[in-house]
Amino acid sequence: MGVKYLRVVNRDRCIGCFSCMYACSRMVRNSMGSGKASMRVRSYAGLEGAFSIRVCARCAHPDCASACPTGALITAPGGGVRLDKDLCISCKTCVKACAISALQWDEEEKQPLPCIHCGQCVRYCPNDVLALVEDGGTEATPS
Ligand code: SF4
Ligand code: SF4
Repeated sequence: MGVKYLRVVNRDRCIGCFSCMYACSRMVRNSMGSGKASMRVRSYAGLEGAFSIRVCARCAHPDCASACPTGALITAPGGGVRLDKDLCISCKTCVKACAISALQWDEEEKQPLPCIHCGQCVRYCPNDVLALVEDGGTEATPS
């Protein structure tokens, strides 16, 4: 099975229901609410019905991992990162290093929330806004 990349494929169809974020928090991190989601949907201030959707690009050479001073973020097979929680010193350098502001932060644990590209958010989106694709193509752009 090839490497899968989470991508935003139908941005205009997002209705801001946040089902994706709730699904990620619940299914991946066993947490109610949306605070532990690895991706983020936000409404644009003053723009009704317009949403910013940030997902991890699964970079082959992730800036977040390069910036981490302790080696807590390890490049995963196929790209993206995994976190070694024991090495993390909660400095937040990784979050600041992500050029597309996709790496999310766990305010409770004070650690990053790397996406594992499992597709739970895709499954729970009612409007096919998100997809897991085989070819990552051009890395995600900020939105
Ligand atoms: S918060 Fe943790 S994972 Fe992020 S750069 Fe600092 S030590 Fe590394
Ligand atoms: S589940 Fe789909 S429609 Fe709902 S906020 Fe997420 S991307 Fe938008």
